[in-house]
Amino acid sequence: MDVSALRVAQLEWYDAGSRELPWRVRDGQADPYAVWLSEVMLQQTTVPHATPYWLEFLRRWPTVSDLAVADDAEVMSAWAGLGYYARARNLLACARAVAGDHGGVFPDTEEGLRALPGVGPYTAAAVAAIAFDRFAHVVDGNVERVVSRLFRISTPLPGAKPEMRARAAELTDSGRPGDWAQAMMDLGAMVCRPKGPLCDRCPVAPWCEARAVGDPETYPVKAPKAVRPRRYGAAYVLRRGDEVALVRRPAKGLLGGMLGLPTTDWSGVRPDAMAEVPVAADWQRVGEIEHIFTHFSLTLEVWTAEGEVLDGAIWSRDISGLPSVFLKAVRLLSSPAKRERRAPSR
Ligand code: SF4
Repeated sequence: MDVSALRVAQLEWYDAGSRELPWRVRDGQADPYAVWLSEVMLQQTTVPHATPYWLEFLRRWPTVSDLAVADDAEVMSAWAGLGYYARARNLLACARAVAGDHGGVFPDTEEGLRALPGVGPYTAAAVAAIAFDRFAHVVDGNVERVVSRLFRISTPLPGAKPEMRARAAELTDSGRPGDWAQAMMDLGAMVCRPKGPLCDRCPVAPWCEARAVGDPETYPVKAPKAVRPRRYGAAYVLRRGDEVALVRRPAKGLLGGMLGLPTTDWSGVRPDAMAEVPVAADWQRVGEIEHIFTHFSLTLEVWTAEGEVLDGAIWSRDISGLPSVFLKAVRLLSSPAKRERRAPSR
């Protein structure tokens, strides 16, 4: 493979347009805070989904020092809908370390970034390359797909990751590291798409082994999916007029620190929801919702009642900042689902 020619073609394609992203700066240095924020948000979601969150964070907290002094609950609420709430907690920890230990200035090396709390190898490499134009190996899912097709890597994921990193490294040199990282990501997102790659418009097509044999969609090869276990639980929607009783979840664990509905534990057996109601009331079963978390599927019974008092509750009309599992549960009340049975008052 003629790596030099491939790099020239790829960077010419990047210069000719590729994607315009709100955090991208084509001439001059990007704001490391803006880049870091975008990379954290984009780790589990798409550009269209993350963009309004990124804009809102920048509007409310324009600098890392502003974010560092933000109220935890406000940040968690602003994060709601992006999922993976541990990331929001790490975000705050990192912002406070940058503000407290580095005078509000991000370290400008991969090693220095890696030392920040909650910053993993991928984020450190991406920020070093994109914000500081440092040589770094930036390999996300898009890059993995491109190199797996370029080199027809037949080892299934996730075992193929070291080989993919090594192959990506063969294409990376010290020339324009930030642009190269973004060019590879853009190629995966726009052209070398998971389904229906646009090989006819691809700048690296002349060197692509998968294209040459006509089977690009075979790559990356994936190991058969493990079956996601199912858990069961119940959630309680206690209403006071147009307000709902919310409780703060424990700081550690799933959805840690977020506001949510009172619930039972979520386990492998169906709970006796009537025995675990959070307060005596005329509870009615509304129905069930299904929700997929990374490591399990949840079947959640939804119960509702009117009430005035619940220890530790925060009564709120605004549920828009709730994690989506609780939004679904509250919204079930306004669906035509049939109410099924009553729990005895307690
Ligand atoms: S030629 Fe096709 S399969 Fe190969 S890198 Fe380009 S878009 Fe992907």
